[in-house]
Amino acid sequence: MSIKTIILLGAPGAGKGTIAEGIRSASRFLHVSTGDMLREAVKCGTPVGRQAEAFMKRGELVPDAVILGIVEERLDKGGADDAYMFDGFPRTMDQARLLDEILGGRKAVVNKVFLLDAPRALLIARLTGRRVCRKCGQSYHVINIPPKVAGACDLCGGELYQRADDSEATILNRLDVYTKQTETLIAFYEKKGVLVRVDSARPRQETVAEILRGAGALAAS
Ligand code: ADP
Ligand code: ZN
Repeated sequence: MSIKTIILLGAPGAGKGTIAEGIRSASRFLHVSTGDMLREAVKCGTPVGRQAEAFMKRGELVPDAVILGIVEERLDKGGADDAYMFDGFPRTMDQARLLDEILGGRKAVVNKVFLLDAPRALLIARLTGRRVCRKCGQSYHVINIPPKVAGACDLCGGELYQRADDSEATILNRLDVYTKQTETLIAFYEKKGVLVRVDSARPRQETVAEILRGAGALAAS
């Protein structure tokens, strides 16, 4: 049985992270989030973290060589019959080609790409209000998903903080980078016949349920 692969594609603020978490807990997909792995590396001050930090602060893309390294490392740690869910990768045409190579080496292909769609004003509102748990990484929103106790994580009590790249100027740059670099992937995957558009302006659970239905056969096999 070959490895199954899905990708979550969408602008910053489209909800890739929280939706991926919903899918992961209801299926057997291995969640591969380059953003999460990079933030962890920055926090721990590893060589990868030191290389990535400045790019991330400006909302620019981290060089492909760094990304390739962390993705391969993550997949090597997973089991042989895993289903992969990529979140935040690939982000450029070069990365999409790299992913095809990586998967080819594991006798896998991209089975489905879910494009999370939400209006720009909503993306900005979600990003500016986002707060993240320093300990466990759980996401909140000051208005939409407030924690029970202000400033503290419902799950682990950890301190909530605002990501360094969730400042207004960096948010606008990230959206710009998405339009210029990542949007081109939509046509690429559409042509391959694997793109599925999903409305992600709705409550997260509805989006998660739709993706699980779409990926159900892949994750359960
Ligand atoms: P968002 O999609 O909200 O920007 P991510 O957590 O996916 O959030 O990414 C945060 C930052 O990490 C990006 O702005 C970029 O600097 C870096 N990054 C994440 N994934 C990649 C990638 N595949 N290629 C290059 N840089 C990346
Ligand atoms: Zn927490």
